[in-house]
Amino acid sequence: MRAEELTNNLNNIQSRINEACKRAGRDPKEVTLIAVSKTKPVSDLQVIYDDGIREFGENKVQELTGKIEEMPKDINWHMIGHLQRNKVKYIVGQVKLIHSVDSYRLAEEINIQAKKKGVVVPILIEVNAADEASKFGVRLDEAKQLCQEVSHLDGIHVMGLMTIAPNVVVPEENREIFHKIKDLSVDIESANIDNIDMKILSMGMTNDFEVAIEEGATLVRVGTALFGERNYNI
Ligand SMILES: *Cc1c(COP(=O)(O)O)cnc(C)c1O
Repeated sequence: MRAEELTNNLNNIQSRINEACKRAGRDPKEVTLIAVSKTKPVSDLQVIYDDGIREFGENKVQELTGKIEEMPKDINWHMIGHLQRNKVKYIVGQVKLIHSVDSYRLAEEINIQAKKKGVVVPILIEVNAADEASKFGVRLDEAKQLCQEVSHLDGIHVMGLMTIAPNVVVPEENREIFHKIKDLSVDIESANIDNIDMKILSMGMTNDFEVAIEEGATLVRVGTALFGERNYNI
């Protein structure tokens, strides 16, 4: 995509984020845009980087590690896709946050690799809030228990929750989902579980990030509105 077009898209998204914050009476500093760059060439990422963006999200380990090699070193990378246990070792120590932890076994493997590297890995618990068969994530009513189970793993640190809301025509339809995730985070926070924080809510994508912000998102993951449609056939 042309550099000018990417920069326009970025400016447009940032003003929409600011407007959503204003409507919700929130400080825009509470909301961080993650540029979801999967399938896109590093030349496109570089434009957005030059515009000042330092948070990038990828959903495949191989593509992620390739781009980490190629891009400037001061980027904060976010692993937002489903993660297999045998690939955890490639990203621990390389990413700022793993958004997609949805089982004890995955958390345990991240903990093992974190200890090998002498780091503590920040993670989010992925919640399948609408209980869709096609999606990963724990059910709403399982999230607190998973937090309790992983709380003794001191190589990880739970920072909050992540959700991928249903693909709806009208973004307003997802408001209730985002509201439920926010409520859940308040509930878990009030349980005061060791090693569990609920400061981060990663929710909202191209179609629904404004509604997500109105309901409390602190990280929004935007791909298409920034980089254009993805073509998976090339
Ligand atoms: C691809 C992806 C996004 C971005 O989706 P868009 O609709 O293109 O903004 C956000 N979150 C996750 C987990 C993704 O896989």
